[in-house]
Amino acid sequence: MRTATVTIDPLALTHNLMQAKRLAPKSKVLAMVKANAYGHGVAMILPALQQADGVGVASFTEALEARQLGWDKAIGLVEGVFSADEWQQAIDYDCSCVIHHQPQLDWALANIPSSDSATRIVWLKYNTGMNRLGFDYQQTIEAAKQLHQAAFQLILTTHFANADDRKHPLNALQIQRFDEMLALLKKTVSEDVQGSLCNSAGLVNFPEHHYDWVRPGIMLYGSSPVIDKSASELNLKPAMEFSAQIMALSTVNTGEAIGYGSRWIADKPTRTALVSIGYGDGYPRAVNDETHVCVLVKSKTEDSEKSNQSDQGYTSYLCPVRGRVAMDMIVVDVSALPEALPLDSKVVLWGNAPHVDDVAAQAGTIGYELLCRLSARPARVQTI
Ligand SMILES: *Cc1c(COP(=O)(O)O)cnc(C)c1O
Repeated sequence: MRTATVTIDPLALTHNLMQAKRLAPKSKVLAMVKANAYGHGVAMILPALQQADGVGVASFTEALEARQLGWDKAIGLVEGVFSADEWQQAIDYDCSCVIHHQPQLDWALANIPSSDSATRIVWLKYNTGMNRLGFDYQQTIEAAKQLHQAAFQLILTTHFANADDRKHPLNALQIQRFDEMLALLKKTVSEDVQGSLCNSAGLVNFPEHHYDWVRPGIMLYGSSPVIDKSASELNLKPAMEFSAQIMALSTVNTGEAIGYGSRWIADKPTRTALVSIGYGDGYPRAVNDETHVCVLVKSKTEDSEKSNQSDQGYTSYLCPVRGRVAMDMIVVDVSALPEALPLDSKVVLWGNAPHVDDVAAQAGTIGYELLCRLSARPARVQTI
């Protein structure tokens, strides 16, 4: 059987959530689970996030899924609602919404939820420099006044454009604008206005600016949110392992090319393994010739010297990908491995090693994209 598999480790998720809470001990945590929990599957990860104060989603459909799975704490719709009808649905399912433009403000003021409704809490979005969603300076003050008069509770929010790069000059400006607005609203509108600034990268890079709510996403899944530290340096554990199996073994003679476009040409006789994974599963076609996968071979003691690590009776070998990634398979160079390589040997595309952030760098993208764009084909399982 073809065995492309996405394995979710709930303990890693909980560990990463605890790491976020340790870094932001005074803030509540809105754990971001949009895009099917960054490709991990909302149903699989929600039980591991019980210690979050709420979950953040990008669409009402995602909010509904979380409610149907029994999530009874806060849900934040980070793009807010898209119509007056959807505002009513948000009320029906007790969701808190971002309000980022005038139509959303109108829908909210025309249909004020009851005093015990979570929808009474709104996330008022102030544009501090990202220049996508949000009100400008004057509009934010005006919207805050109107919402407060209509008995809404306010969380002032904004989103960083460059938090992954601690030294980027826009960070200081966004922080300053946010800080000034929050102080102004506290003074002129209500002492109770709360603040929420940080995504994962902000949470890691700007410990002085966590405010009332932090909104970690990518770090919960064990990928590094910042450019100057790896996931393991941040003590984050990958919540996903993406794996397949060797489906056939072959040998390529000197001068012969492998795969579509004949991109890679053997400069010596090369033993290859065909692995049943491809871009049809979500493995990126764009990876370069430096990309590796990890082949796990049942250990025989004499093999273990050549390997990088050995655990639970398996020896793991990093092997380079050769030639183009196809829809259903890739070819890897196993010349350095024992000749008697069992056909069912497991191949890890990303997980502990290689890390998804490494593969992303080799494919010219970011871990977020690789995680989110896995296809429906791989089987989904969890470690416990
Ligand atoms: C997705 C999202 C986050 C989480 O971002 P990460 O970089 O994954 O931590 C935080 N806030 C908002 C508004 C978002 O849309």
